[in-house]
Amino acid sequence: MDEVDIAIVGAGAAGLAAAEQVAASGLSGLLLEARDRLGGRGHTIQTPIGPIDLGCEWLHSADHNPLVAKIQGLGLTIDKTPPPWGNLADNPVFTPDERAEFGEAFQALDARIEAAARDGGPDRPASDLMEPGNRWNPLLNAFSAFYNGAEFDQVSLHDYAAYEDTEVNWRVAEGYGTSLTRLAPANLPTRLSCPVAMIRHDGPRVMLQTPRGDVSARAAIICVPTAILATGALRFMPALPDKLDAAAGLPLGLADKVFLRLDEPEMFLPETQVYGDPHVTATGAYHLRPLHRPMIEVFLGGAHARSLEGQGPGAAAAFAIEGLVAIYGSDVRKKMHLMAETHWAADPFAGGSYSHALPGHASARATLAAPVDQRLFFAGEACSANAFSTAHGAWRTGEAAGRAAIAALT
Ligand SMILES: Cc1cc2nc3c(=O)[nH]c(=O)nc-3n(C[C@H](O)[C@H](O)[C@H](O)COP(=O)(O)OP(=O)(O)OC[C@H]3O[C@@H](n4cnc5c(N)ncnc54)[C@H](O)[C@@H]3O)c2cc1C
Repeated sequence: MDEVDIAIVGAGAAGLAAAEQVAASGLSGLLLEARDRLGGRGHTIQTPIGPIDLGCEWLHSADHNPLVAKIQGLGLTIDKTPPPWGNLADNPVFTPDERAEFGEAFQALDARIEAAARDGGPDRPASDLMEPGNRWNPLLNAFSAFYNGAEFDQVSLHDYAAYEDTEVNWRVAEGYGTSLTRLAPANLPTRLSCPVAMIRHDGPRVMLQTPRGDVSARAAIICVPTAILATGALRFMPALPDKLDAAAGLPLGLADKVFLRLDEPEMFLPETQVYGDPHVTATGAYHLRPLHRPMIEVFLGGAHARSLEGQGPGAAAAFAIEGLVAIYGSDVRKKMHLMAETHWAADPFAGGSYSHALPGHASARATLAAPVDQRLFFAGEACSANAFSTAHGAWRTGEAAGRAAIAALT
């Protein structure tokens, strides 16, 4: 049986940040990862037209994001082109007047949510702040589906308002997922394809049960997505009902992506965005020619993305292509080729894309993040008070949990 000071469970952004702390501390550590790769929801794949990010892509709040300097330190390329959601392409289905009207509706909703959160009243669905009958409500809910992974009626008002965003968004040309994996400390033992099924904390040491044998540790840092805790894929003995409740109140919303390679890229303006149908919630956001590459990256969210995943492989791609045909005409169909389609809800080691707090559950993030007996520590994007749902938020919680575990043992 392996014996270490600190076992880290999960090698996504949070687990890798915790690993960096442990590796530098002089304590012994072991990183246990269920997948056969590092990075978790950060996952870059190589294609003939360049690397693409199936998961996280944008360094949100880039001017405050601790990963920017680390990624630059790796010698990778930070691209500072502004994101396409601020640069909607002209198209006949969403006129400039309509775009301006939608922008006003969006600002007004945001202001009402911020004001209601400041008033400090009881938590409620963010959808309570939508103006009944506003013609832009379907697209506002589509925004929520992309941003929160769920429509506004499933989103806590206080949690939504707690998110901090400097609105500076950069990318890594080589891929955000690539960057995260390159940040793994070389001097910390790592075991891939090693899912932890149970953590026993009823004895003098913490015991982690895996199909590749037990690991005994003085402390453990648990960095898995909330879906893994809520479904019991990873269990605790004795059980931790507070953690289970907190994880259930912070479900993973869904965002999926489709990547289409273009034969005639010049048909599309680079680094712009279009919505498929801007008058319905079940629509896609199309990023035209990211980084000037000959491709379109399609973002699908919420209940719509869940329904497409449920229809099986190829359904999201078919929907995405029909959306483009509706705008640009049927000729485009034969000039696009599917490169990749994600299924984050079906992913057994994620169970979704990023966490949102259900109405009434804004305090669950603090409950989830609290250590147990100064030897079980928790990290991951869902533990972040104000940068949840992001890779840099996850990284910060991993650093904090790593430091706390080291302090508890030294
Ligand atoms: C489509 C999509 C787009 C996104 N876009 C952005 C973006 O642009 N910018 C941004 O900042 N964020 C984005 N995110 C969110 C970001 O990817 C996540 O918030 C972040 O990567 C989460 O890191 P984490 O360490 O908390 O969890 P994860 O990355 O999920 O890491 C958890 C790890 O635990 C492992 N694991 C699970 N169960 C077990 C077990 N039983 N035993 C051992 N290991 C286990 C998993 O395999 C995984 O490697 C996006 C996510 C998706 C899916």
